[in-house]
Amino acid sequence: MTLNRRLFLATLTATLAAPMVQAQTRPRVVVVGGGAGGATIARYLAKDAKGALDVVLIEPARTYYTCFFSNLYLGGFRTFESLGHTYGKLAADYGINVVHDYAVGVDRDAKIVTLASGVALAYDRLVLSPGIDFVEDSVPGWSTASQNAMPHAYKGGSQTQLLMAQLAAMPQGGTFAMVAPPNPYRCPPGPYERISMVAHHLKTNNPTAKILLLDPKDKYSKQGLFEEGWNKHYPGMITRIGPDMGGNAIEVRPDTMEVIVDGDAEKVDVCNVIPAQRAGNIAMLAGVTDANWAPVHPDSMLSKMDENIYVLGDATNQGDMPKSGFSANSQAKVAANHIRGALTGSKVFPAKYSNTCWSLITTDDGVKVGASYEPTPEKIASVESFVSQTGEDAALRKATYEESLGWYTGITTDMFG
Ligand SMILES: Cc1cc2nc3c(=O)[nH]c(=O)nc-3n(C[C@H](O)[C@H](O)[C@H](O)COP(=O)(O)OP(=O)(O)OC[C@H]3O[C@@H](n4cnc5c(N)ncnc54)[C@H](O)[C@@H]3O)c2cc1C
Repeated sequence: MTLNRRLFLATLTATLAAPMVQAQTRPRVVVVGGGAGGATIARYLAKDAKGALDVVLIEPARTYYTCFFSNLYLGGFRTFESLGHTYGKLAADYGINVVHDYAVGVDRDAKIVTLASGVALAYDRLVLSPGIDFVEDSVPGWSTASQNAMPHAYKGGSQTQLLMAQLAAMPQGGTFAMVAPPNPYRCPPGPYERISMVAHHLKTNNPTAKILLLDPKDKYSKQGLFEEGWNKHYPGMITRIGPDMGGNAIEVRPDTMEVIVDGDAEKVDVCNVIPAQRAGNIAMLAGVTDANWAPVHPDSMLSKMDENIYVLGDATNQGDMPKSGFSANSQAKVAANHIRGALTGSKVFPAKYSNTCWSLITTDDGVKVGASYEPTPEKIASVESFVSQTGEDAALRKATYEESLGWYTGITTDMFG
């Protein structure tokens, strides 16, 4: 280890560990994960508590690349750079202590989070918003060790770039395959928006190419809208193999670029494997998950397993809300209000949540599905919902797409200031 790095770690350790030995002047909230849930709650806690809370945000990446709109990058509608967001404003404008490190353990009795650097960080309340990890071996033949040959592109950043590079390098008339995930998973319309954007890319650059969608589910989000769009804009290009045709028993061979469907090996040029999912590792390590997801109280996002830990976003099992950035952002605001109430005595308002998921099918052809939600004793329940209709006119579809552009700017500003 270099002297500089040793000095840096020693200083960081002293700074972060100090409150464990000195009296803390302000209650501390540690937030693990600087994505849709974590960045939002850190900002709201710092902003609304007006300095009454010591907010520490733990996130390994210096730039967060959104998964939302990453499909639009594949379709040629966004640059990769436009998906990247940094944490500078959260530190400079909101006084959040942003620590670029990785949480590796939680001692719930001592209320301490341990980081990969060795720092032990005491908390009064802990928020976990680590997103998803994959269920190893859920697609026989695939593991995270093969993600360079067969990318998932279901976490933002380099995987998205890799899938784009593979798509662009496809031979003329080649085959793009996707192995879609089983429920529940992050962004229910995400795989199908991706199929639309890949089709748009191929129609422009490689019009004789084919898309093979291997899907373990009987039905999926906005299915009628996607199928209408695919028939209209990409006729003959997309073949979906559902569970009735073996889509629920796919095997892959990353070394030979083959997918095995119903016993038959098919050679493909790109294979996007989106495996089954579960809560991010740190939620599992903290012991706040029940099987694969973290159960939370519907009125607060407080863990059902620990009264000092909140869980947000994709990692949770909360009821009817889809695992989306919009949902995570909405849940973060409810939890921020609850934490402030607990630690500063501020008023706690009744929980209300909302979500909209937009998808782009082709240029200016946007569709959406959404709902508002309220807590019941059992779950976060959908109270009112809406969805785009088949046969809508072009002006409405364009307006829907434009609405999604406004949403992207709004949510990323809400997360990063
Ligand atoms: C292709 C695609 C398209 C999508 N499109 C949309 C869309 O249009 N609209 C929408 O609302 N949602 C969309 N989503 C879903 C959205 O990206 C997620 O639901 C959302 O990001 C979940 O927020 P989160 O806070 O739970 O997790 P994330 O945003 O993934 O954030 C988790 C963060 O935690 C960090 N982390 C993990 N473990 C640790 C640890 N141990 N220590 C420290 N940090 C850690 C990670 O580095 C990451 O930055 C899409 C997803 C995909 C894949």
